[in-house]
Amino acid sequence: LNIQSENESKDKTTISVYNNLSLDSSLECLRGIGAKTAEKLSSLGLVTVKDLFLYYPRDYIDYTSLSRINSLNPGETSTIVATVRRCNAFKSPKNPNLSILDLQLYDITGRIKVTRFFAGRRFSNFAYLKSQARLYPVGSTLAVSGLVKAGPYGKIFQDPLIEVLDNPYSPIKSKYIGRLLPIYSLVEGLRIDQFRQIFEYIIPLHEQFKDPLSSTRLKELSLPIKSEALLEIHKPTNQDKLRLARRRIVFDEFLFLQLALLRKRLEFRRIKSPLITVSSDRNDLVGRFISLLPFTLTSAQKRVLAEIESDLSKTEPMSRLVQGDVGSGKTVIALAALLNAVQAGWQGAFMAPTEVLANQHYLTLCKLLPQLFVSVELLTGSTKQSSRNIILENLANGSLKILVGTHALLEDPVTFSRLGLVVVDEQHRFGVKQRNRLLCKGLQPHLLTMTATPIPRTLALSLHGDLDVSQIDELPPGRTPVKTKLLPSSERNQAYELIRDQVSNGQRAYIVLPLIEESEKLDLRSAVEVFSQLSSEVFSDFSVGLLHGRMNSFDKKNVINDFLSGRIQILVSTTVIEVGVDVPEATVMLIDHADRFGLAQLHQLRGRVGRGLKTSHCILINDSNKLSSREKLEILVNSSNGFEIAETDLKLRGPGQVLGIRQSGLPDFALASLVDDGDILELAHEEAQRILSSDPKLKKSPLLRQMLDEYVLSAFSETHLN
Ligand code: ADP
Ligand code: MG
Repeated sequence: LNIQSENESKDKTTISVYNNLSLDSSLECLRGIGAKTAEKLSSLGLVTVKDLFLYYPRDYIDYTSLSRINSLNPGETSTIVATVRRCNAFKSPKNPNLSILDLQLYDITGRIKVTRFFAGRRFSNFAYLKSQARLYPVGSTLAVSGLVKAGPYGKIFQDPLIEVLDNPYSPIKSKYIGRLLPIYSLVEGLRIDQFRQIFEYIIPLHEQFKDPLSSTRLKELSLPIKSEALLEIHKPTNQDKLRLARRRIVFDEFLFLQLALLRKRLEFRRIKSPLITVSSDRNDLVGRFISLLPFTLTSAQKRVLAEIESDLSKTEPMSRLVQGDVGSGKTVIALAALLNAVQAGWQGAFMAPTEVLANQHYLTLCKLLPQLFVSVELLTGSTKQSSRNIILENLANGSLKILVGTHALLEDPVTFSRLGLVVVDEQHRFGVKQRNRLLCKGLQPHLLTMTATPIPRTLALSLHGDLDVSQIDELPPGRTPVKTKLLPSSERNQAYELIRDQVSNGQRAYIVLPLIEESEKLDLRSAVEVFSQLSSEVFSDFSVGLLHGRMNSFDKKNVINDFLSGRIQILVSTTVIEVGVDVPEATVMLIDHADRFGLAQLHQLRGRVGRGLKTSHCILINDSNKLSSREKLEILVNSSNGFEIAETDLKLRGPGQVLGIRQSGLPDFALASLVDDGDILELAHEEAQRILSSDPKLKKSPLLRQMLDEYVLSAFSETHLN
């Protein structure tokens, strides 16, 4: 069967009517669009012809699959060509306002019923019904497109599109039957057929879209030209061409993003940064620090430190992310980097997302630095005013070399005399703005960020254009993977027995809950509730502690210290312990209501155990019956690879959720998906690199440059490009 192609039927006279229209013409100028429709369109942000072209369908109905009657499947949209066997039009016996047209069709494989309903009295008069029936005489051939349903007496088409064909071999002329039909997100009062009709008017104007890429280059990239892609996306010929059209449009979205980010990076590289010469003599401060450690660095740690040191000794500011799974030993690397700065006469800042973690880093430094005669202080929200004043003074006069702290470091009174290096631990917990605020406290200091939550490459490319990443892809020797188990809450006792067993043997356990206190809205066990139950009943013979974010920092510190020393054996906590906390004797992590947490977060929590030589356990208690929750949690049971988990997390929750609201700065994409279009993103990234490496100012491609400038103005929030 053949379907007449649109091009054959393209009406040359319509085009001439549009000679005076351009992509910038207002939609109101179009035939068939009145003030009311124009208003509806503008509520969707559609004002000009160009806007409409860039308003992509959200989906398609596929009527292209031509089927025989016996191979139709209920639930699928299909098209058939068949002959009329019987035709009846009658009033519904049950509802006087409803009329029904009943068709019996057949082809060589079988029969099917087609019904159409007409609601409203004006359709129910006899003459009208007769005229409807006359449209489909017995023996005539019809093309029918629609959703196949299962009726009481076999398969039916209900209210499908119908076209009468001159003969079984004549082409289908309808714009809809047998085609891929776009579906758009519309507002009330705007009908889909009306919208498709508007496209019929403007579609010839697609030729006015200019292509920023040469046709030779497009051939090499196997991409269609822009105007062709825009035509196909709204009026697809077939699935293959539609796929290519989509590919081109997604490519462009990514290309402009990559060009914008990479161009910014090129500018950034021209800025002079603090000069930190790295000593080749390992009897220096850094070497002495490393020799003071109670262990030797893993080869991954050595490699990453070398990568950082090579960045530091360059004249352009470093911007490097260290990714390393929980427990891989990122902290010592950060400290070694800071000592490089100190040795070269600069100051260093070390920022952590929680007070607990900042405090822990401070203690680690306090153990080692006095022997090296390097001054270090801690600044958090709870630092007393008197000590704060001294710290700030010494920071400003340059005698204080390393300042560790929380968000408190960002405050205005904090001024450094010579800030050379900023380290941000667990960087995914901070926003771009916060990081930049700390950087602004120096003249282009070097930046080292660290995370145990790997950023999937698609996100890294979209946020940064590229990222200098170092991987600590090796755990210190002697670690055994954490045994992870999923339990329904009815089997909670099994988990308690394990805890009892471990704690009796001198180990320690965490029990994590999503809430601090009972909530009326959520039927969840809270930390306070579980703490009181466990300490008085289940574990009354052990010492149980409670930690949550609403405690004051003095109490928090005491609880952590008690857990560290073993005075507390079982710690009931919220996610305040999610990142960083390092207690090697802890061997059990019990997470209640595990389905409430994101995968990356669970992986982080699990990382609190398995830090010593003994085998550790992570028990995830799941109350949700949802299959998706179970599937999600099974991923943790089966994988201890942070990268794998992060990629899956991205697929399950999408980029917005993974990055969290703090990481604003991800641009909106009209069609592109960071989950599915990773390959196109790579292609666009390479293309952007290729273009800028030969022509950094885009002097040879004025159109591309103009489009890029427009893109940057419209698509970026200010923070993103900073
Ligand atoms: P993370 O990468 O999760 O921040 P930490 O820096 O907190 O990990 O290190 C986890 C634990 O491993 C700490 O107790 C640290 O002292 C220890 N550690 C770090 N490097 C090594 C190493 N090379 N050998 C043995 N233990 C190490
Ligand atoms: Mg850490």
